Amino acid sequence: MKSPVRVLLIGAAGRMGTTIIDVAKADSEIDIVAQCDLSDSIEPAMKNCDLAIDFSQADAITEVCRAGLHHNRPLVIGTTGHSPEQCRLIENAAQSLPIVFASNFSVGVNVLFWLTRKAAERLGRDFSAEIVETHHKMKKDAPSGTAKTLAEVLKAAQKIRNEIPIQSIREGDVVGEHTVIFSGPAERLELTHRAANREIFARGALRAGKWIMGRPAGLYSMQDVLGL
Ligand code: NAD
Repeated sequence: MKSPVRVLLIGAAGRMGTTIIDVAKADSEIDIVAQCDLSDSIEPAMKNCDLAIDFSQADAITEVCRAGLHHNRPLVIGTTGHSPEQCRLIENAAQSLPIVFASNFSVGVNVLFWLTRKAAERLGRDFSAEIVETHHKMKKDAPSGTAKTLAEVLKAAQKIRNEIPIQSIREGDVVGEHTVIFSGPAERLELTHRAANREIFARGALRAGKWIMGRPAGLYSMQDVLGL
């Protein structure tokens, strides 16, 4: 039997971190061998693992990339809300390391990205697009990373430069809802994804972790992991 992938989990005490620990318990191919949260040093923890999974906060990325590069470990980055400079750090690290960076690790949302691209291509510029996203009140960034990715997908598919309107709603304990609305002359098409719990992101991140082992350096998306 293949030995399990040994994972360092960064942001281990958070909502996603604890969900990943729970999901990993039932997965014989994953072993969470180290956990870091605020005030823990990432670099020494990176030494005795096969890869790191980061679901923490955007400003952790400097240390995550530095430690990954130092020990030559693949990274799975689920944290969102990075600044353009922080995104450049990830891109630079991906020249030397395999990195999966995804604003949303759910299979359903990644199929939503695919459907959004197909719909935008077919509907053309007669249909204007907008995005509505709803999350729990504790979410720190707005718009969500997923909504930003959807906007990029729409802009690329419609070959337009102007920004896609995004409405962000923060209420209750909503795990995550995203709707893309296409409005055309006398008709409207809506594509919606609703996350029922965080396990979908945790399962996707662990799947990405198994997929990335042995890959060459590069910046990969969840679309690459799923072969979409
Ligand atoms: P959370 O606030 O519950 O947990 C974040 C954890 O990271 C906390 O325990 C915090 O103490 C810790 N942390 C903060 N700074 C750190 C640092 N420098 N080093 C180590 N640990 C640090 O948040 P959450 O709901 O678990 O979400 C975490 C991140 O994951 C957010 O950016 C969120 O948007 C993102 N997220 C991504 C996906 C996805 O599929 N990509 C899904 C859900 C959430």
